[in-house]
Parts: sequence; structure tokens; C-alpha cells
Amino acid sequence: MKNIVEGFLELVKQRNDHEPEFLQAVEEVAENVIPYIVENENYFGKNLLLRMVEPERVVIFRVCWVDDEGEIQVNRGYRIQMNSAIGPYKGGLRFHPSVNLSILKFLAFEQVFKNSLTSLPMGGGKGGSDFDPKGKSDGEIMRFCQSFMGELFRHIGPNTDVPAGDIGVGAREIGFMMGMYKKLRNEFTGVLTGKGLSYGGSLIRPEATGYGTVYFAQKMLETRKDTVAGKTVVISGSGNVAQYAVEKALHLGAKVLTLSDSSGYIYDADGIDEEKLVFVMKLKNEKRGRISEYVEAYPKATFVAGKTPWEIKCDIALPCATQNEVNEEDAIMLLNNGCICVSEGANMPSTLKAVEAFQKARILYAPGKASNAGGVAVSGLEMTQNSLRYQWTRDEVDNRLKVIMTDIHKSCLEYGTCDDGYIDYVKGANIAGFVKVADAMLAQGVV
Ligand code: GLU
Repeated sequence: MKNIVEGFLELVKQRNDHEPEFLQAVEEVAENVIPYIVENENYFGKNLLLRMVEPERVVIFRVCWVDDEGEIQVNRGYRIQMNSAIGPYKGGLRFHPSVNLSILKFLAFEQVFKNSLTSLPMGGGKGGSDFDPKGKSDGEIMRFCQSFMGELFRHIGPNTDVPAGDIGVGAREIGFMMGMYKKLRNEFTGVLTGKGLSYGGSLIRPEATGYGTVYFAQKMLETRKDTVAGKTVVISGSGNVAQYAVEKALHLGAKVLTLSDSSGYIYDADGIDEEKLVFVMKLKNEKRGRISEYVEAYPKATFVAGKTPWEIKCDIALPCATQNEVNEEDAIMLLNNGCICVSEGANMPSTLKAVEAFQKARILYAPGKASNAGGVAVSGLEMTQNSLRYQWTRDEVDNRLKVIMTDIHKSCLEYGTCDDGYIDYVKGANIAGFVKVADAMLAQGVV
């Protein structure tokens, strides 16, 4: 079996050299899915995984825009249309200077499995740009978004490909892109999700990823007759996902100790309460400030520059910042400090070695494609509401989100429970995500 997996990975490596993040995501999936394919006659010999690692389409385009000084700036735009076997391509747009083909391909690949797990009819895609929104004025952001959509609109549509937000793309950017799409097509459709409430957005969409990540942690803890209540929680990031992870952790009675951004983390031994969370939301979403400013408002807290929060003792860790933010050393630190549960709000925040350490220690560990699927799940519900030309209430959407997270957890149990009773959520998520897409691809023939 080891040889088959290695042979497959060697082939993927040859074709995608210099794409470390993509190869990392493929390796993690291949290790679970190839043995499953070999054991299951109907999938064997169909080269299904080889077909899945090749994007159906990749669009790369020039994005020119004029900055506030009147200078012409040039960025690169991307959309990876990875797999449409079970529905239109669906996945976010990331605006960040680190964006490249490897990162977007890993995200698009993960998205295929994640979207399949939600049980909603969504294929997988991802896109974005190496544009850096940091320090840009609203006018510059608008002109960039308009230029970006000036090309992207040709490749998307409510039944073709439905983008949303990701790092660097929130309600403001979605609004600007929606405005441009509408102008170019003269058509009002749910072509983007994460829209504002006044023009077709869904209640609970901003909260969904963070809430879902905590709901998933709660489900994992229940398997050990435990709960989130009374636990200490360390969270990384301070954007949309992290903010609502804090909110839900507080609702469920936990104490949240940290938040972070790219310059370091803040540690608040008294806990980040509802009032402090409102401060963080204003700071990040309106003033677009740095998390270090937290300690100016709450001097009992400390700011640790240039580090991630994994050195802080906690029961639960929620990595909600970005890929590979938890390495093996961090994982060991968390384990030595007594962490019992890791639920990922970001996409692939743990390195392969970190995951190995968590699983070897037999703690509860959920990969982002399962635990952070709440965001895209509510995007799917936004698409449904747009088709119905209707809007569900907060409770209706939140209840559906809870049901979806519970069902994803069930799927992980079905495919990931080991002989000794340990739940391998990575295996569970990979195989459950794979089966639905594979069945659809088999039914649709070799295309
Ligand atoms: N960017 C989010 C994710 O990684 C959401 C994508 C969406 O809503 O389409 O799943």
C-alpha cells in the first residue's frame, strides 16, 4: 500500500513541482483515500484521485488599477475551478501578498472535500490575488475589486461558479465586486455569497465559520462526555473567523485567552469577554487596526511580538489564522501543556508533522475541511435563499448550520473510527468527502 501511495505522490509531484502547499494537501488526502480506493472494487482502477488533483480549469489574469497617487498598479488574479461533479464551483477569494498558484490550488482541492461534506450541492473552487489590502484606502480597494471583477465576471455565474470571501475579502470587497458584476451583466443573481443583508446576503453568514468551528469542537468533546463549558481556549487570528469563534466559545461558557495577527499575539489572563470582543471587532473591522492595540485599551493583557499563541496553556486550541501556522514544535508545546482538543477554523493551519503529533497523542483533532465547513455551508444556504428569493431568520439559518456540523461530525465517525475506538477525523473527512464526489464522477463518465 505504501508503494502505491508513494508512486501516486511522486507522479503528482512531477506534475506540480514547486507547489509545496498543494502537494501537502494532496499527500494528506492520498494517505487516507488510496487505501480506501484499493479496498473498494467500484473505485479501483478508475484513476479517480488522479482526475481529482487536476483542476478542471485555471484562469490567470492581469488586474490593473490606479492608486490614490495616480500610479498604475498591476496585480495577478486567479480562479481555480477544481471540481464541478456535485455542483457549481464554490469557494472563496483570497487577497493577500502570499497568494500564488500553489496556495490557491491547495485551497481549491480542500474545498472540493469540504463542500462535499456539507451535503449541499457545491463543487470546489478558489481564487484571489496577490493584492495586499493592508493600508489601502476604501477608494483603492473599490478600484481594485472593480478591475478584478472586470475579468472574473466572464468565468463565473450563479450556476457556474459562485465565489465568496476568504482572507482579505469581507463584506466590503464582496459589495464592490457584486456592484461591478451587476453592471457588466445587467443581471441581479446570487453570483457571490457573503453579500450584505440588504442585497441578498444571509443572516449568520459572517458568524458561520467561527460558530461552526466551535460547534464542531463541542461535538468532538461530546464523544468523550465532555463539553466546551469551563474550558480555556487559545485562538489565533483576529479576523472574521476568530472573532465569531470567540463569541461562540463565550456563549458556551469557555474562557478565551488569546488572539493574534501577523505581528504577534495578545494574552489576556482574565479572558476576552463580550465587551472586549466588541472592541476587537471595531478595531479590526472598522479601524482596520493591529491586535497589539488591544493592550492599550486593556493594559492587564500582554502583547507578545513575533510569536504565535501556542505556548499558552489551554484545554482547546482553535487555529483561525492561516495555513501552516501550527508546526510540530507548537503541537508538542500544546500537548505538553495539556491541550485535549484542536478544531481548525483556518484551512490547513497544522503541518503534516503537527497533525501526526496530535493523532499520536490521541487527542481530539479536526482538520479544517470538516471543522470550518460552516462558512461555506451557510454560503450554500445563501444560494438556496437567493434561488427562493427569500430570507430565512437567524434561528432558521443557525439551526441548519448546527444540523450540518452535526452531520459532518457523524460522517467523520462513520469513516474515521479506528479499531481502538479513536476517531481519526482526518481519515473520516477525507473518505466521506471523497465518496460523494467519486460517485458523481463515476456516474458522469470520463469527461
Ligand atoms: N473561504 C471560505 C472557506 O474556506 C468560505 C468559502 C465560501 O463561502 O464559498 O471555506
